[in-house]
Amino acid sequence: MTTEFQIDGPKLDKIASAFKVKRESVQDLYEHYKKFSPCLREQCLAHIMRGMECYFRKELKNDSFRVICEPYKRISPGQKQASADYFQGSRFVINYNNNCNASWTEKQLRDYIAHEIGHLFLLATKDAKNKDKRRNVYTGITEPLSSIFGIFAMSEKNDFYANYDVSLRNHNDWQEILDSFISIHNGN
Ligand SMILES: [Zn+2]
Repeated sequence: MTTEFQIDGPKLDKIASAFKVKRESVQDLYEHYKKFSPCLREQCLAHIMRGMECYFRKELKNDSFRVICEPYKRISPGQKQASADYFQGSRFVINYNNNCNASWTEKQLRDYIAHEIGHLFLLATKDAKNKDKRRNVYTGITEPLSSIFGIFAMSEKNDFYANYDVSLRNHNDWQEILDSFISIHNGN
């Protein structure tokens, strides 16, 4: 566990002086950023969901189709860990239990969400068939096929993290991030 990339007071000082912006303005923006930040964690598998949006906007010829993913507002007894609704022509909404603990892990949560995304894939594909009769429609076996889709998607994700050279993406340390943005700021 490293704190190298965690924003703290001295880093805010450095940013303020590097960009010649008042410390107070940097602090204000950071406080506001912290209100936004939890939304990042709520968007489990955002990459796959964004891919779905792009794919089905074309397939359905509908630029406003979107995938919404948010935790349950409250959890009643016997409720599924994740569920979803397909609103034809507009959106796919996934709700999930985000109270991860020892018995319900984030790893499982991601798999449940991948299963729901599998349902979206099948439902939206069926919908797209109305526009092109040659397409496959997966009727009758959508429950297992949604899980099978989840296996494909999570295998690809795990393969990515297991094999991709993350050092190509990550900065070596926090200073390198600061220097990079100073360079962008200076138009280099
Ligand atoms: Zn299901």
